[in-house]
Amino acid sequence: MSSEKTVVSKILIIGGGLTGSVAASLIKNEAFVEIELWERLEQIGGRYQTYRTPGTPDCSIDIGAQYVTLSLELMRSQAKFYDELLEKQLLVPLGQKIENFRRLSETKTTFVAPGGTDSLVSHFLSKADCQVFLEHEVKEINLKENEQVWEVIASNGKVKEFDVVILTIPIPEVLKLEGNFQNINQDDDIKMAMEQVKYEPRCAIAMLYKEPVKYLEELPMSMKYFDDDDLIYFLSINSKKRERNKETPSIIVQSTTSFAKDNSGKNENELTKMMVDRIRTLMPDLPEPSSTKFFYWSYAELTEPYIDNPGCVVLNDTPCLISGGDSYTESSFNGCITSALVIVEELLKRVKFLRGWRRRSS
Ligand SMILES: Cc1cc2nc3c(=O)[nH]c(=O)nc-3n(C[C@H](O)[C@H](O)[C@H](O)COP(=O)(O)OP(=O)(O)OC[C@H]3O[C@@H](n4cnc5c(N)ncnc54)[C@H](O)[C@@H]3O)c2cc1C
Repeated sequence: MSSEKTVVSKILIIGGGLTGSVAASLIKNEAFVEIELWERLEQIGGRYQTYRTPGTPDCSIDIGAQYVTLSLELMRSQAKFYDELLEKQLLVPLGQKIENFRRLSETKTTFVAPGGTDSLVSHFLSKADCQVFLEHEVKEINLKENEQVWEVIASNGKVKEFDVVILTIPIPEVLKLEGNFQNINQDDDIKMAMEQVKYEPRCAIAMLYKEPVKYLEELPMSMKYFDDDDLIYFLSINSKKRERNKETPSIIVQSTTSFAKDNSGKNENELTKMMVDRIRTLMPDLPEPSSTKFFYWSYAELTEPYIDNPGCVVLNDTPCLISGGDSYTESSFNGCITSALVIVEELLKRVKFLRGWRRRSS
């Protein structure tokens, strides 16, 4: 790394999930700098995404992450994030039981997001005060010769130059991107380590109702793991989990990773039918939903993290290019916060900002 810090004014964060949003808010806390965030989908959240039913405003469902657990060892280093979210009631302690929750003994407390898991991402993005561009899927990143800037190209045709690029997408997706960044200054060890990172997929079905469902109200739990089933892994009753009894009920059912892997060739309708049939067998009294919606996560859960969990890696010093996200830590809220903290630490070792002074919010 060169001892001379480069002056930067334009930063691009790729990915509108938890890591990207927290990193954006932390950078904004350090300096007045122009930050753009490009997200592939038409909504932010990534795997902290909440599906909102068109036409039924009081019905929404968290489709990826369901809850946040704070372990004792992270209590000190991440307390400020939890304090902030608890104070604004964006996180609240989980009041209901999770059936078959094996990790309970290791954890201090479990929290849920009453406004939907995407409200956590929205919170950090609003603090970052950055420009968010949806439906901006990055397909190519090139180092412009002699100009010390990155040229980033999206599938929608947008092309723009940035002084710094921060990737917060799973490593297997980074490796699929095009452009000369894949070959510049890259240590072979880093490339090999990136290729070792592995994720497992999961399917999810949202079951949406239009009226209150007595059967769900009377169940003595809000979430449940199905330990002995080869197809259904987990179920969450969203209104109950969030203790929002006036919300129209909705359920998310997530599959085992083996089911998602073994049936990846099947179409949405076939997968929906297989999952709905099985949930009917497991819960025969569950009333028919008004509608269902299918989701497939190709990179749901990290099974082989980047070696030694460094939080991120710097792919290029000048101009700076950093790859972070849960691939470098673990698939959890805490993993994303850790990655965002390390991304900003590494960035600040390499760059200074145009106005030459730092802002610290109170
Ligand atoms: C089914 C499921 C259940 C889970 N349960 C929990 C749980 O209960 N508790 C918990 O803490 N964690 C849970 N997790 C893990 C947690 O959701 C993830 O670890 C976390 O959301 C990862 O955040 P991230 O920002 O690093 O990545 P992501 O959330 O994946 O964000 C990356 C973003 O980048 C976008 N993107 C990808 N490629 C491009 C591109 N080329 N250009 C532009 N944008 C791009 C994606 O659309 C996405 O929005 C779960 C995950 C899944 C899938």
